[in-house]
Amino acid sequence: MNKIQVKTAFITGISGQDGAYLSKLLWEKDYKIVGITRNNHADSLEKLKQLGVDQYVLMEECDLLDISSVITLINKHMPDEIYNLAAQSSVGLSFKQPIGTINFNIVSVLNLLEAIRIIKPDIRLYQASSSEMYGKVAELPVTINTPMHPLSPYAISKASAHWIVVNYRESYGLYACNGVLFNHESFLRSNGFFVKKVLQETVRNHHNPDWVLKVGSIDVKRDFGYSPNYVEAMWLMLQAEIADDFIICSGKSITLRSIIEYVFAKLDVSINKLVIDDAFIRPTDIEDIYGDNSPAKTKLGWQYELDFYQVLDILIEEERAFFERKTHE
Ligand code: NDP
Repeated sequence: MNKIQVKTAFITGISGQDGAYLSKLLWEKDYKIVGITRNNHADSLEKLKQLGVDQYVLMEECDLLDISSVITLINKHMPDEIYNLAAQSSVGLSFKQPIGTINFNIVSVLNLLEAIRIIKPDIRLYQASSSEMYGKVAELPVTINTPMHPLSPYAISKASAHWIVVNYRESYGLYACNGVLFNHESFLRSNGFFVKKVLQETVRNHHNPDWVLKVGSIDVKRDFGYSPNYVEAMWLMLQAEIADDFIICSGKSITLRSIIEYVFAKLDVSINKLVIDDAFIRPTDIEDIYGDNSPAKTKLGWQYELDFYQVLDILIEEERAFFERKTHE
């Protein structure tokens, strides 16, 4: 379909969950989308294909740790907006790969900001910040002014990148914003993340008498939301008159245990199938966290009212449909 493309956007981390939903949103808004990947192979397009937008994204390879590659790509396409979603995004993995996580998640952001400052300072940058930065919080709900006490290498990397973005906005007047997103899920969530793991394993194996679901600390509480709605907030942030940072969340926390119980009940699985395994317990973990989304609602006009159990209903059906399709292929 030919469209008149009004703006050009870079999306780093295009192959991930949010990269796919954001591509779909920007395609619907007539953007020219340049997808940045470290390695352009068939798998990079998998999630875009599932949303039917792979053919609308121009893929480019770029090593975000190499500023000359970043400069070359910006010079080539002169984007209006950059959505920086690429990151080593797993808290668990960050304990195993602290140096790689911290190095990539910080230096890639600095390279993008430096390239913007040097080449085209009117590019608007969205940085994928994370609620994990707040960590051990003294007061809930989290607001943008809550003191940070990160509890993992991932959280430290995101906190540092967050302040680099603030610093470039304040020092050079760049239009750069942090979207501080709380956990958000979808059918396209990468394998291994908690909600995806519970859904995928339970849907696939619940008839297998030998299967058990192995998990770590499940009495911790998190604020969960739905990715397709959260990417709308990313776009809204870059359309505002003044660049600012926003908390994007549902505003409520629930225990991981309650998610398992809900999924098990829906699929008629006995709770005896749940096994707590020390191998999944992290050295440090946040006990409870939820945020205040009212500034995003009032200042950006972002709308979000979903209860996470409603999201789980959608995800259970999508996972089931996918599994049935695969078994009949
Ligand atoms: P995903 O894990 O699904 O996607 C991460 C993307 O980053 C992938 O495209 C991946 O590419 C890319 N990436 C990872 N490591 C590197 C690297 N070393 N070099 C280049 N690219 C790399 O994440 P989500 O879509 O869920 O999240 C998007 C962003 O939002 C991330 O920055 C994440 O940290 C942040 N965030 C996510 C939250 C959530 O609940 N989903 C909550 C708060 C923040 P490849 O396919 O090549 O591996």
